[in-house]
Amino acid sequence: MVVGDVTTGTDVLIIGAGPAGYVAAIRAGQLDLDVTLVEKDAYGGTCLNYGCIPSKALITATDIAHEAGNAEAMGIHADPAIDLAGMVEWKDGVVDQLTSGVEKLCKANQVTLLEGTATFDDEHTARVSHSGEGQGSETLEFENAIVATGSRPIEIPNFEYDDEPVLNSRQALALDSVPDSLVIVGAGYIGMELAGVFAKLGTDVTVIEMLDSIMPGYDDDLKRPVKKHAIELGIEFEFGYAASEWHDRDDGDGIRVIAEPAADDETTPLELDAEMVLVAVGRQPVSDTLALEDAGIETDDRGFIETDSRGRTSAEHIFAAGDVAGEPMLAHKGSMEGKVAAEVIAGEPSAIDNQAIPAVVFTTPEIATVGLTESEAEADGFETVVGTFPFRASGRALTTGESDGFVKIVAEESDGYVLGASIVGPEASELVAELGLAVELGATLEDVASTVHAHPTLSESVMEAAENALGHAIHTLNR
Ligand SMILES: Cc1cc2nc3c(=O)[nH]c(=O)nc-3n(C[C@H](O)[C@H](O)[C@H](O)COP(=O)(O)OP(=O)(O)OC[C@H]3O[C@@H](n4cnc5c(N)ncnc54)[C@H](O)[C@@H]3O)c2cc1C
Repeated sequence: MVVGDVTTGTDVLIIGAGPAGYVAAIRAGQLDLDVTLVEKDAYGGTCLNYGCIPSKALITATDIAHEAGNAEAMGIHADPAIDLAGMVEWKDGVVDQLTSGVEKLCKANQVTLLEGTATFDDEHTARVSHSGEGQGSETLEFENAIVATGSRPIEIPNFEYDDEPVLNSRQALALDSVPDSLVIVGAGYIGMELAGVFAKLGTDVTVIEMLDSIMPGYDDDLKRPVKKHAIELGIEFEFGYAASEWHDRDDGDGIRVIAEPAADDETTPLELDAEMVLVAVGRQPVSDTLALEDAGIETDDRGFIETDSRGRTSAEHIFAAGDVAGEPMLAHKGSMEGKVAAEVIAGEPSAIDNQAIPAVVFTTPEIATVGLTESEAEADGFETVVGTFPFRASGRALTTGESDGFVKIVAEESDGYVLGASIVGPEASELVAELGLAVELGATLEDVASTVHAHPTLSESVMEAAENALGHAIHTLNR
């Protein structure tokens, strides 16, 4: 059907159906608003299609194979064979199940779904171009809008994602054969998660990082077990180098990646041979393709749309949510912002006032943080008390065969209010939820310590860390 010069109206136009946009649409539908959700690619956005879900599916699958092949201590002798095509088919099935669920939920909440690319014409009008020859475009008039267009991977000079051996994370998650060797540029959380996946698939992985450690922003004690495990997996690190170019090798056997020393010194450039190179140096907001200026929406110098505590942009009736609205670029932060924007449009007194947003890195072992670290709390002027509990003292951790790492809780010394927590170890991603709730509820160390935790569980380590801060942990020595 050719669509052209049609004008329709909607109360709320939402651009982008990732975890910020589709969640905003469903919430707005629940609040009886007339909603149109425009998506140019796939429902569920980066998160469901090319990010969180596919990466976690492959992390789980490769972990199972790796653990099965390394469980002699438990009396298991196995040599699992990985059928990548089968693994990818299973991962794609998970993605399809979730994305079709998003579509069904939107429809069940009376959200009008529109496939196409939206750009602003003016403060109350957007144009939606439909892809495909002769598909034309249509005009949408709106009362309110939510911009939830997400982010894209940053490209570095000389490494274009259109060149076959150069991959971004999306392309790396869609490979149909395992590369023999891979250079990963960037040791941030995406680079480190994918380094683990490929190493467990049998790829020789080398990570180049400009800085002098993995995952800048995380405390050294959290990163140490992750780096140790990565080295045990055979991952090699080259710190202090910036990838500058690549070329095909003269013998036709793969590529050569050149990296210059990041500091201006006499060190010679690095040359690394590999089959492919994955660039994971961060993501940038998708805000440059929307003609935001025509709608009166301002961005900061990095391209993020600036918003207030209700998600409003510089145009009062237009909101922004998710990666395009700034750091931290995490799916759950975007969903929370999407819900707030929908509720504010519906006239509810909602605001973004969370005390803490958890962040998780799905490496082996996992890292999870929420609220303030000890040094952040001290920089904010708090007198702190810290409690820790090592997983090697947890009965449950020992029964899983994964006992590296610890739980650390930071609290106010005077009244015991929990300010934050850091965990590195098994199931850190799940354990952090209790501590996020503690921060949100204004719980004290006493509250956490006196809550009965089931035995034998990893969650007992959270209780013991709180007890340790109070000076009476049972299964570790108190300071
Ligand atoms: C490999 C990887 C792993 C990740 N793992 C995690 C994780 O474990 N946990 C976590 O919290 N986060 C993770 N993230 C980050 C997470 O994916 C993002 O924070 C999240 O997807 C942001 O949601 P969003 O709705 O803001 O944007 P997106 O999910 O990017 O969705 C934006 C949507 O807008 C659409 N769009 C853009 N412009 C237009 C337009 N003009 N018209 C119509 N549609 C448009 C896009 O097609 C896209 O579907 C990961 C990211 C990657 C790449």
